[in-house]
Amino acid sequence: MPEEYSKYLQSLNDRQREAACNDISVPLMIVAGPGSGKTSTMVGRVLMLLKEGISPSNILAMTFTTAAASEMRDRIGAVAGKATAKELTISTFHSFSLQLCRLHAEKLGRTSEFLIYGHGQQRRAIIEAVRLLENEKSRQNHNASILGEDSNDITSLQLLKDKSKKWLKFVAQAKASGKTPEECCKMGDEMGGAILGNYNGILKSCNALDYHDLISCSVKLLTDFPEVFKESQDSWKAIVIDEFQDTSSMQYDFLQILASHNRITIVGDDDQSIFSFNGADISGFDSFRKDFPNYKEIRLNKNYRSTRCIVEAASSLIQNNIKRCQLKDVLTDNSSGSKIIIKECHNESAQCAFVVDKILETASNGSAANCSYGNIAILYRRQVSGKVFQMAFRERKIPFNVHGVAFYRKKVVKAIIAMLQTTLPACDDGPYRRVFKALLPFEKEEKKRVIDYIDKISTIRKCSFILAASDIFSAKISGTFKRSQLTQGRKVLSTLEMISKLVNREQSISAIITSVANMVPQKYLLEQRAVIDVDGGKLLNEDNDIRSVLQYLLDDVSEFLSTKFVAVKGDAKVAAEGKGCLNVLKAFIEFISERERDNFRSRRHDNEKSITLTTIHQSKGLEWDVVFIVKANESEIPLLHEFNGVAKENGNLIEEERRLLYVAMTRARKKLFILYVMMDSNWQMLQPSRFLKEIPDHLREVQAEVSVQELQTKQQHIPNRIAQFSVDVPREMELSEVDVPNDFLKTCIHKASEDLTDPLEASNGNGFLRRFNVENRS
Ligand code: ATP
Ligand code: MG
Repeated sequence: MPEEYSKYLQSLNDRQREAACNDISVPLMIVAGPGSGKTSTMVGRVLMLLKEGISPSNILAMTFTTAAASEMRDRIGAVAGKATAKELTISTFHSFSLQLCRLHAEKLGRTSEFLIYGHGQQRRAIIEAVRLLENEKSRQNHNASILGEDSNDITSLQLLKDKSKKWLKFVAQAKASGKTPEECCKMGDEMGGAILGNYNGILKSCNALDYHDLISCSVKLLTDFPEVFKESQDSWKAIVIDEFQDTSSMQYDFLQILASHNRITIVGDDDQSIFSFNGADISGFDSFRKDFPNYKEIRLNKNYRSTRCIVEAASSLIQNNIKRCQLKDVLTDNSSGSKIIIKECHNESAQCAFVVDKILETASNGSAANCSYGNIAILYRRQVSGKVFQMAFRERKIPFNVHGVAFYRKKVVKAIIAMLQTTLPACDDGPYRRVFKALLPFEKEEKKRVIDYIDKISTIRKCSFILAASDIFSAKISGTFKRSQLTQGRKVLSTLEMISKLVNREQSISAIITSVANMVPQKYLLEQRAVIDVDGGKLLNEDNDIRSVLQYLLDDVSEFLSTKFVAVKGDAKVAAEGKGCLNVLKAFIEFISERERDNFRSRRHDNEKSITLTTIHQSKGLEWDVVFIVKANESEIPLLHEFNGVAKENGNLIEEERRLLYVAMTRARKKLFILYVMMDSNWQMLQPSRFLKEIPDHLREVQAEVSVQELQTKQQHIPNRIAQFSVDVPREMELSEVDVPNDFLKTCIHKASEDLTDPLEASNGNGFLRRFNVENRS
């Protein structure tokens, strides 16, 4: 065995080593709590498979996010060498099944060029599916369609659009549970069955699949086509899966067939299952036990990541869940560390101020060497809670990185991608429409009028968007357009022609992307600045947006070219040079479209010296020395969904929410802060998360907000105001309980004190004073 391998395996503890080195022909299940080295053991398992003579190109490792896939490739590469790591297939379920579907597209009634429909395209397909059904009905009844005589008119279109939301949801659910149109009909839902059937038919006629289809089509390929099954057995001689608890039942079916040879290792922790909204189903562990009866189960119980205090606090929390299938004792030899700080804050800005203070304190303590910004993370339930931190960090020039910044969802980036997509064969209307939106230099309303008109012509003539646009702008159709509109429309068409020439000249992808990015008009960039602002992140730290957008894209091009993916897809020689042949461009667009779904920011961009801002869901599997969990309030964790205005609460949901906090807490190595706020921006009182009470007293230090009395003695100018508040607040809030206004009062005073220090702010409508006066007058 290469020396590096044995060194790595020696660094594991006995149980981890036993797992990694277990007989590779025996199905293996590793179950363990957070930070116990599951992922580390999985790396060891891959080394063992290599050592046993399985070629790296025959090993398939599945992870749940592209970030986790990159991480795993890096970790294996560090031991086995980059060349070997590159040979491995480390993939997410979606990109793996996409490749399989492409390879056998004709068996699915598609060509290998098939399109993947995103949300917008799915919506248009649903609208069409509903329209078809309505037309069919009206024909049968000899009545006018309920949509009106002319189903092309604007109001009927609007009606269709409204309906489409409901039907999209229906189709997604039906597909997730593997229902066919016929099954829907059998279950009495004839309308649902008909719409699903129409929708599938439209996708087929457009040579498209949607994301839901990928896994089910892969299962179909493996079960209905013995030759595909045989090929998969020859190709993937061993399979390892990290974060198994997040597999959906359909993904499990897929795995089970792929692993018919029994060389499968699954690694997971049911307590960290937090993706049930995506169909994750922890009953997969039981299915595994049943379907692979000669399996071996190994449990790891030593936490290497966190201090004892954090480990114990997290364990106490999760013990409140009743439905746990594998009870785990998590122990640690680490020092007990400091208590978990639970901090009460008046509002989100006070919360942010506290975090910033703590961060600067850590940095100025001289401990910055031990705890660089890269070792700090701020975790929140919803992306929106990160906004205030982005602003504060930007102001103070503290470097930060937003995970899930949705780079590929930025309109500017989408426009660039759409421009590239128009060069692919079988490009449908979506990208063309987007390109017109980006390139037409009109105000929003005018732009919309022009695009709606093209849409209308394409619907009436039953032709594509781009064909309608060409006819309109080349004046084959006498439209109502002004001369300037015709001129600008023509310009867009010639830009599209230029892009297509670029691609045909077989330049490198980088060169094509650079040219295309430079075609995005300055006006559009400025228009979209507000959108970029909302997402925040590094992008705005740089003064020239398009250059940083381009740099991000080019980074991803080089990462894409360094993976095995390209060689699989096309002409190896062209691929190696990264030349812009259509296949490579198409493969690149697929590569990044998966990142879009993942909200992925490549780890390479994660500057070691930056603070990480991320949602808890995205923080999975990662770790930092210092973690701040912010806005740990009721209504965030647990986040309760409202149905007809009533928050719906059920045991399963609450348990999943508890697991979410568990995942968040167990990301911390040394120091954990949990913060909650007392009031939201609409002056509504908020409660701390119910879960905070489940952390034992001896493991936490609760830091309350300053009391009214303290505030009075600290800030002499406050008392006058208190008199006013104490009279007016209860009236305003119409509250019967006495203790709530007190809380409210505390917050008001804090806010008023802030306002008084900045009278300008108080008077410009942002502050409390104005609000107070208004309330007072009424
Ligand atoms: P999670 O459930 O959060 O995904 P995990 O079980 O996958 O956690 P790892 O990420 O593999 O845990 O490991 C957690 C930390 O513990 C890492 O920093 C890793 O380097 C360290 N670690 C794992 N095993 C050992 C070991 N045997 N000796 C020392 N450190 C270890
Ligand atoms: Mg892990």
